[in-house]
Amino acid sequence: MYRKFTADHIFTGYEVLKEPSVVITDSSGTIIDLVNTIDAGDGIEKYTGIISPGFVNAHCHLELSHLKGRISEKTGLVDFVQQVMGNRSIMDEQQVEAMVEAEAKMYQNGIVAVGDICNSSNSIPAKKQSKLLWHNFIEVSGFVGEAAHKRLAEMKMVSKQFENELPNHTTTLSPHAPYSVSKNLFHLLNEDTAGQLITMHNQECADEDMLYLRKAGGFLALYKNFGIDIASFEPTGKSSFQSWLPYFDQQQSIILVHNTYTSANDMEYLSQLSGRAKTVFSLCLCINANQYIEQKNPPIQMLMNSNCNMVIGTDSLASNQQLNILEEIKTIQLSTIPIIPLPTLLQWATINGAKALQLDHLVGSFEKGKTPGIALIENIEQFQLTQLSTSRRIL
Ligand SMILES: [Zn+2]
Repeated sequence: MYRKFTADHIFTGYEVLKEPSVVITDSSGTIIDLVNTIDAGDGIEKYTGIISPGFVNAHCHLELSHLKGRISEKTGLVDFVQQVMGNRSIMDEQQVEAMVEAEAKMYQNGIVAVGDICNSSNSIPAKKQSKLLWHNFIEVSGFVGEAAHKRLAEMKMVSKQFENELPNHTTTLSPHAPYSVSKNLFHLLNEDTAGQLITMHNQECADEDMLYLRKAGGFLALYKNFGIDIASFEPTGKSSFQSWLPYFDQQQSIILVHNTYTSANDMEYLSQLSGRAKTVFSLCLCINANQYIEQKNPPIQMLMNSNCNMVIGTDSLASNQQLNILEEIKTIQLSTIPIIPLPTLLQWATINGAKALQLDHLVGSFEKGKTPGIALIENIEQFQLTQLSTSRRIL
């Protein structure tokens, strides 16, 4: 039993087709073919708008879904981190319910795959019943060097749980952020993740650079509040990015998340290093979260020019009103001059995201044999998004 889909515009994951075309799938949603409308026969389901492969959310924290509306906006990252640490332990029915609800909404608004940060095994039940594909990044943190072995061992146990209980999804360890991972822990993680996919929150606020350049900035107060002794921390005199990146020299693929304060000099450094270390980099934008927390946009045009794989994430409901990739695309379009063409942004949201999560053999484009799902974008005007544009999953 085949199903046939067409719309005013078809985006394939790479481009918008010029000829009227039809996407043909089998009953399980596997792509059978993409043909010209005149060769498609009858029984075609016709939609108004754009059809696209399902979206890939390259950065999310499903675990934090119960914090929706609980964290004050526009306070800056240092305060945000303290608010989340203070609130996250509310582990009850509410947390599970919030995760299930957030997962259902992601499915409905067209998302097919998620790169999800996990600080515990709490999201396993929600993921067991999920129809989305998950790459679970088991996040490791600890700024006290002596505790590195212990912190890593704890999170390896969590990682094992994910591997055992979610065998159809993928799981790797990842460092949290430059300000929460000690030198010792970076070294251990480098050894442990050789050849693997990892992710890292990068330059989400200016204080990260101040910490590494001069051992100054807002994080010093945070360490003090939490009783973390940083006497042994030595500033490098370089940006945080240029300080932590060299720790990973084992051909990891790295998704760098936020990059709000990343400079052209940092990107130049990255292009030199990526050739040497044979590391594949993706740059993930979470613009709605940046506006929520820091009221600052990442330097999108500069990042685009770096030749890295550009991808899009929603971050969590602690710092976003919704987990919706089309809403991220709308904000990016509003925040960039000249406007970035919609096909480019859809590519970031589909095939690029799939490549970043190493799931491009399954999703991200309408290529034969894949099961990418189909997202329908409605309320567009002459192939432009408006504030009223919406997306929903139709397959
Ligand atoms: Zn995040």
